[in-house]
Formats: sequence, structure tokens, C-alpha cells
Amino acid sequence: MPTERFKVRVTKDHLVFCCGHFISYRGHQCERLHGHNYRCAVEVEGPLLPDDFYVFDFIALKKRTKEITDELDHHMLLATNNPVISVAPTPQCVQVRYEDREWLFPRGDCILLPIENTTAELIARYIAGRLWESLKTNENFTPEVLRVEVEEAPGQSATVEWRA
Ligand SMILES: [Zn+2]
Repeated sequence: MPTERFKVRVTKDHLVFCCGHFISYRGHQCERLHGHNYRCAVEVEGPLLPDDFYVFDFIALKKRTKEITDELDHHMLLATNNPVISVAPTPQCVQVRYEDREWLFPRGDCILLPIENTTAELIARYIAGRLWESLKTNENFTPEVLRVEVEEAPGQSATVEWRA
């Protein structure tokens, strides 16, 4: 008897989040501020649920993913654990410094992410972590495998995979 596995995948135009960002690279260089229309895709693997005969409800998976991407949409993404870019929030603003360059953003325009760099890889990992918790808390569901893909530009994406 062959073994079988099932996978469901959601990606839709409404899982797009448009954000400003810049990253440090090669340890000591820093991009100029720019933006992407990021697009998220999520895959869940597991056995078929008894009675329902699906891995997980598509509607619920889209809804829980969209809650997270909507939070990010139309914000400046800033990584708070970057070794060379400092991010200093006050109630009103966020001051960002890299060597002799300085940016000042309204606090409400920024999402501060507890990650090292706003690469597609680490944004995908952040979304995966949030989604993993959301599925557990709100849907009482832990996938065997969860994959989150973040596409920065057409044909240019990063994927993280989490296994239970
Ligand atoms: Zn970029």
C-alpha cells in the first residue's frame, strides 16, 4: 500500500502587503529605503481530518493569514535586532540610524519586527510564527508541516518550513 500525503495551499491577491523596508547586507552595507508589493503563500500538510476529509479549512487558513498580512500592509517594516541599524521608538516616532544616515518615521506608520533583518526569509519566518500560534489558539489546529512563502517581486521569493 503506498503512503499518501495531502497539502493545501492558499495564495491570493488579498494576501499582498505593500511595505517600505531596507536591509543591511554583507555585514556592513545598507540599502536605500524602498518598497515591495509582497505576496504571501501558505501551505499546510497533514492527514485528512476525519468527517471533513480535508487537511484544513481553506477559508479559515486564508482568514488567519490575511489577519497577519493586513497588520503589515501599508507600513514601514523595521527589524529591531539588526546589528548595524539602530531602531529607537518613542510614543510619537521611530528614529532609525545607520552610520551617518538617519530616518525619522511616525510611530503609527511602522511595524517593529523582533527580527535581525527585513529579508523575505525572516519576514516569512515571522509570519509563520504568528500563523502557527493563531492556528493553535483560534482554530485548535497544529499542522504537521507549515510553509510560508514571501515573494518580494515576481519570481523572487523565500520560503520557510516549520514541522510539528
Ligand atoms: Zn527590498
